[in-house]
Amino acid sequence: MATTSDYYDLLGVPRNASDEQIRSAYRRLARQYHPDVNKADDASERFKQITEAYEILTDPQRRQRYDMFGSTSGGFGDFGIGDLFETFFGGDLRRREPRGPMRGADLRMEIEIDLLDAVQGRERVINVPRLETCERCRGSGAEPGSSISTCATCNGRGEVRQVQQSVFGRFVNVSTCPRCGGSGKTVDKLCAQCRGEGRERKDREISLTIPPGIDDGQQLRVAGEGEAGMRGGPSGDLYVLIRLKEHASFRREQDDLVHLLRVSPAQAALGDEVTVPTIEGGDAKVRVPPGAQHGQMVRLRGKGVPHLGSSGRGDQLVYLDIVVPRALTKEQRRLYTQLKDLEAPPSQTDEDDDLFGRIKDAMGGGGG
Ligand SMILES: [Zn+2]
Ligand SMILES: [Zn+2]
Repeated sequence: MATTSDYYDLLGVPRNASDEQIRSAYRRLARQYHPDVNKADDASERFKQITEAYEILTDPQRRQRYDMFGSTSGGFGDFGIGDLFETFFGGDLRRREPRGPMRGADLRMEIEIDLLDAVQGRERVINVPRLETCERCRGSGAEPGSSISTCATCNGRGEVRQVQQSVFGRFVNVSTCPRCGGSGKTVDKLCAQCRGEGRERKDREISLTIPPGIDDGQQLRVAGEGEAGMRGGPSGDLYVLIRLKEHASFRREQDDLVHLLRVSPAQAALGDEVTVPTIEGGDAKVRVPPGAQHGQMVRLRGKGVPHLGSSGRGDQLVYLDIVVPRALTKEQRRLYTQLKDLEAPPSQTDEDDDLFGRIKDAMGGGGG
């Protein structure tokens, strides 16, 4: 089975390949994979893929779109493989209808949001450069007031045929009519705004609703806000990929927020009550239990990220980071010395103590 769906890879041609290179690569592969010749299980699927690759890469408009966006409307297998095969290998040429309505392309964007926005959700206006239906001609491509007539080059068929000799004998090459672009119609006067394209490039401000709980790498779909369709086709969709900015005090783990709290050895030994920040502002009290260990976690329920699309939310996980003073005052030195004389050194085999696990947790929990 083919592991690639890239049209250029499928045909084994470089991205700047000429039409002739593409044609000859297709001819070679079509001979190899045509289901009449090749009985392997995946041959017909492969044949379909290379045929689609060929059809798109030899159509300048679709090729350009493919180069820009990596896809074209429609996927593998939604057109008849017969159509193209006939162009090379003869057979009945059915009359093709002029191209009908075409759906606009989907657009993909990426935005970066703050952790707080992901927690609370918000509306955000984003700027989307895209092709829209031309306002002046309403998509017809004709200057208002001018008349529209049947294309004289293709007689309204939307395609032109050239008979050529090839290694396989005579074949008819069918391509989109260069004059009318496949619509089968020409206008006396092209629209001054879009030069007959029917669409024009615009920067559009789109309001995006970011739902509470959204996470890095998730994608929002805004239906109908992609590029305008052609010849009355519907618009594509807009997909917005969410990237989460790093936060100075919190690190997100699913819907929990990891926070590191630095405490002194005395606070850890005696226990203490400390205030910590929360993501939505306001402080919360954390009880450091007496005898707290380095890397130990205290859970603040419900102070994390809301679950996306459902009720409830994650927790804030406060990891205790016991910080030993780097320098001592005279008085501290006296007291630490006293402590040292008083305390037995810690046991080297404490069964409750998963030292490496705790160190790993604490290291990984570096929220600032
Ligand atoms: Zn126009
Ligand atoms: Zn034409």
